[in-house]
Amino acid sequence: MKLSNTNQRRIIIEELRKLDTHPTADELYIIVREKIPQISLGTVYRNLELLSKKGQILKLELTGKQKRFDGNIENHYHLRCTKCGRVVDIEIDDMLEIDKKLNELVDRLSLDGYRLELSGICEICKTEK
Ligand SMILES: [Zn+2]
Ligand SMILES: [Zn+2]
Repeated sequence: MKLSNTNQRRIIIEELRKLDTHPTADELYIIVREKIPQISLGTVYRNLELLSKKGQILKLELTGKQKRFDGNIENHYHLRCTKCGRVVDIEIDDMLEIDKKLNELVDRLSLDGYRLELSGICEICKTEK
């Protein structure tokens, strides 16, 4: 049985939303393949790009790494662990303030945008030492 594009896309979103690991296209492909064995990496990749253009998922352009995707489109921030490479969600109220200020700056200077990314050691690595 061949799944329609819409159904493939629905499964891709569903699987992505179950994760809080911000997978790369390759990582998500391995998971989605369990549900749709005939799907190709290219299809997963194309759908992820399309979904992020439509604003249904987030594409995270983090420094020097492969693109990662996030099923959570709420305003939130990320910490990139310098030890294990995980990207974890982080909630700090102060970040909202900074974000607001940067947004104003973007408007004022007509910039394309900006990226707020925290880097450091994640909770898991902290407890693992
Ligand atoms: Zn870590
Ligand atoms: Zn996130």
